[in-house]
Amino acid sequence: MTILFNDQLTERNDVTIDIEDRGYQFGDGIYEVIRVYNGKAFYLEEHIKRLVRSANELRIALPYHEDRLTSLLEELVTRNQLIEGNIYLQVSRGVAPRSHPFPEHSKAVIIGYTFDAPRPLSLLEKGVATILTEDIRWLRCDIKSLNLLGAVLAKQEAVEASCQEAILHRNGTVTEGSSTNVAIIKEGILYTHPANNLILHGITRNVILELARELGIPVREEAPTKEELFVADEVFITSTTMEIAPVISIDGKTIGSGTPGPLTRQLQEAFEAKIPS
Ligand code: PMP
Repeated sequence: MTILFNDQLTERNDVTIDIEDRGYQFGDGIYEVIRVYNGKAFYLEEHIKRLVRSANELRIALPYHEDRLTSLLEELVTRNQLIEGNIYLQVSRGVAPRSHPFPEHSKAVIIGYTFDAPRPLSLLEKGVATILTEDIRWLRCDIKSLNLLGAVLAKQEAVEASCQEAILHRNGTVTEGSSTNVAIIKEGILYTHPANNLILHGITRNVILELARELGIPVREEAPTKEELFVADEVFITSTTMEIAPVISIDGKTIGSGTPGPLTRQLQEAFEAKIPS
């Protein structure tokens, strides 16, 4: 398998990661997951932009221009003959003797690889069961940081309850899912947490909000409360890999009629039309 290592496309077996890589020791780095449909990276420009923003927020200097990164990722997809799958892209602050402050001399380490992944058609059709749990993450969830322990613990809790996702709340306000954004529909209006420091500014969230506006569904970037979540007409989650998945239950309680709702279906259809075939 070909992978991206810094500015080279090379074989996976030829790459070694240093034990003093700060990504490994501190989670001092950032990442992106990019969907590939029919051999084309979906919303690649938006993902690269978000990566650059995360890098700027953490003062990680990317070692080369984003245009070069874009063409290297496109070349990676071609070389691996990826048709339907994902690109995982990670940038760490680099290698230095272990010490908390930024090292004076370190160069960001970039890795990128691809893997096959089919669309989650059954989840999209039937919907997902979820749990609600406390959001114990830090206060810069807008940075797509490698530090994912809050998300890992929440997702594990969901899996142990035989659910696919954990919806998070901070002091009773619904923020997002462990690896998805969350929206509800109440009386025909779409509500979702505003894109501030408490959530990741999801690429799919943005696409869906645009589609909602096009379809004439009023959008309010206002966070629902826990109570509002349970009495919503429809709830759905969005992400690069889950697309727009209906939520049919939370903590075993049925949402709406317990089947994917009509506006969620409409948004799914509009999203589907964007996928290159
Ligand atoms: N929120 C969190 C916490 C995530 O990890 C993800 C997945 N990257 C999302 C939302 C969805 O973002 P996107 O639509 O850009 O994949």
